[in-house]
Amino acid sequence: MTQLSPGVVTGEDYKTLVATAKAGGYALPAVNITGTNTLNAVLEAAAQAKSDVIIQLSNGGAQFYAGQGMPDGFQAKVMGAVAAAQHAHLLAEHYGVCVVMHTDHANKKLIPWVEAMLDEGEKFFEKTGKPLFSSHMLDLSEESIDFNLGECARILDRMAKMGMSLEIELGVTGGEEDGVGSDVDESADNSKLYTQPEDVLQAYDRLTPIGHFSVAASFGNVHGVYKPGNVKLRPEILKSSQALVEERHGTGHNPLNLVFHGGSGSEKEKITEAVGYGVFKMNIDTDTQFAFSQPIGDFVEANARAFKYQIDPDDGTPYKKFYDPRKYLRAAETGIVTRLQEAFDDLGSKGKSLAG
Ligand SMILES: [Zn+2]
Repeated sequence: MTQLSPGVVTGEDYKTLVATAKAGGYALPAVNITGTNTLNAVLEAAAQAKSDVIIQLSNGGAQFYAGQGMPDGFQAKVMGAVAAAQHAHLLAEHYGVCVVMHTDHANKKLIPWVEAMLDEGEKFFEKTGKPLFSSHMLDLSEESIDFNLGECARILDRMAKMGMSLEIELGVTGGEEDGVGSDVDESADNSKLYTQPEDVLQAYDRLTPIGHFSVAASFGNVHGVYKPGNVKLRPEILKSSQALVEERHGTGHNPLNLVFHGGSGSEKEKITEAVGYGVFKMNIDTDTQFAFSQPIGDFVEANARAFKYQIDPDDGTPYKKFYDPRKYLRAAETGIVTRLQEAFDDLGSKGKSLAG
């Protein structure tokens, strides 16, 4: 069996991780984190499941990681991402699993954010021989295909020199994620919600000579959680893109590395079907947000007086052991650890860590 060193995986190790998942018919959850509590909870969850895992930050998550009070918001988005990556480089190996560090949606406005992270990544690369992040995402799906692929080619060229991978988006994921999103009518039969195989072929032709990349393809997926029946997933769209590239280029089975956005609240059989069509990464954010917050709600409800008084005015009970933030934050972390076990099961990655 292929074995990799535990910790943050980049370059050839990252490519091996992706190829092994696809060949093995499983995928990894990509969990959005916003601070050390959520980041550590993901590491703990992966260690418990003996699964590798993908940790990602949105631009807003990165800013929160640096602190909402940091005066320069753009700088916070950059330095928060850098801080999270450095935290993972330091700690992940001690959890005994492989961890991919990634950043989420960057639209046209956020290209400078990606470029500033690459400035920091290049400095880190000079010192350590490793990039800070395994991959970044550029989501230019709202722009023309020419602009989208032109910018992706330009950025990937820079990233490939450090062995980094780029996630691109073709077609539009419905809903909104941290201010990046679209207003397409999700109830309509809108072809923009479904990636066109010809666009995927064009991306493959253009980017394959430059470096490693993955495609967030739209097959009716939507960010967030909706009432059952409101989202119609059509994973067979992914199959058509794979088939077109395979046929044109005479590649092996499932040549494309596909990413499933909006995994929260999705039907299990659609997840399994998508993984069969070459999805190696499924993003999950909304469900882990709820898993983190719900135990805090329960804890506060069960210990309401401890959140009003340091010492109970009626009977003098000291409440320090209840309002100590570690109490409810630990409950919240455990919520993520538990919810992610379900994700590892759904994606078939449990017990399959490549860390040796
Ligand atoms: Zn997304």
